[in-house]
Amino acid sequence: MKTIWDKMPEAKLKKVMRFAEGYKDFLDRGKTEREQVRESIKVAEKYGFKDLETAKTLQPGDKVYVNNRNKSLCLFTIGKRPLKEGMNILGAHIDSPRLDLKQNPLYEDKGLAMLDTHYYGGIKKYQWVAQPLALHGVICKKDGTVVDVCIGEKEDDPVVGISDLLIHLASEQLKKPGATVVEGEDLNVMVGSIPLKGKKEDPVKENVLAILKEKYDVEEADFISAEIEVVPAGKARDYGLDRSMVIAYGQDDKICAYTSLMALMDAEAVPERTACCILVDKEEVGSQGNTGMESAFFANAIAEMLDRAGEYSELNVRRCLTNSRMLSSDVSAGFDPNYPSVFEPKNSAFLGKGIVFNKYTGARGKGGCNDANAEYIAKLRNVMDKNKIAFQTAEIGKVDAGGGGTIACVLANLNMDVIDAGIAVQNMHACYEVSSKADLYEGYLAYKAFLKDMD
Ligand code: MN
Ligand code: MN
Repeated sequence: MKTIWDKMPEAKLKKVMRFAEGYKDFLDRGKTEREQVRESIKVAEKYGFKDLETAKTLQPGDKVYVNNRNKSLCLFTIGKRPLKEGMNILGAHIDSPRLDLKQNPLYEDKGLAMLDTHYYGGIKKYQWVAQPLALHGVICKKDGTVVDVCIGEKEDDPVVGISDLLIHLASEQLKKPGATVVEGEDLNVMVGSIPLKGKKEDPVKENVLAILKEKYDVEEADFISAEIEVVPAGKARDYGLDRSMVIAYGQDDKICAYTSLMALMDAEAVPERTACCILVDKEEVGSQGNTGMESAFFANAIAEMLDRAGEYSELNVRRCLTNSRMLSSDVSAGFDPNYPSVFEPKNSAFLGKGIVFNKYTGARGKGGCNDANAEYIAKLRNVMDKNKIAFQTAEIGKVDAGGGGTIACVLANLNMDVIDAGIAVQNMHACYEVSSKADLYEGYLAYKAFLKDMD
């Protein structure tokens, strides 16, 4: 099978490898949606982006961002044409499947301190046991202080984890179907075993609380107003003896978030149409809530921008949305030779063959999907070919094998043209997902071409 690695010129190979280094570093610094927003703002400010709140007026070439509750972010480079003529939008999500601590998480059982969790997004629960895990998030105190928590990522940090049943005692467990072999309520994280001296009741739990008090100045009750996410500990790594791939947690959808962000950073200084990158939370649980794509924050941001440009009206907000074009930058399922039976090879994405366009996603007869219009896809093909971008078209698996959804339909419901366009990964939603460095770079080039040339 031919891939974009074939006949790749030496100069491009160097760019591919260098881009992947930046990507891995970005993954390591941003494992959660909050960390992704923080790191994306750092990058954007280096490129001259400013908080929209500080901008009194907007002119072509201005670069602004809107931070929504530190969990989602929209960035814009204002184009030459009026906003009501629409934008070119790249939209990715920055949340990933994980385990969240419950609000009353901490307890002691037989001399061991444990944290109770509720999983977030679609996971195979058995994948989360017997491996090093880290704690990331915030604890918000009543006095308004927000304490950032990150334990398990530095070389000398401790890690935490969830036990698995030893094979010697697992004969009954192993007769269960995969979906229940490890159950959600059993995903309890072990965090300590030393008792606090002088405490009679739950001394091990008390010792954990003493450690948290010492490190973060927080009390047990502060867990009520905390968001702590349990994620795989450790860094993104090169994968394959030839280092052609990346293995890391949360590539769905940070691989498309990073490439979309960098495409906007490296876009033309003054594009024809306003260029936009959306990095959004809550996709993995249906895009609801005030930090998800269903939130009014995006339309509100457009209204604010029209206001700064002196062009605000309700009609202009609607015109801007209707005239916009969007790539829903989200990962697709890479063909897996270990599981060929769930793929239909003519309509599958392959690692190393470039950006993937999914005309539709959904399940059971395209249910719940965005179905991109043929006319829009024709324009897109033209933009890709003009810029010599390698692309492939695919479905997520064969008919009735399963399916999935993205933020595409949310924006399509605002009446703009949208198609799913992302990078193929293997092991999607596993603790460690795999992508091709060639696709990573091609995705970035594809997004740049879209921002420049889509009309
Ligand atoms: Mn996704
Ligand atoms: Mn996903």
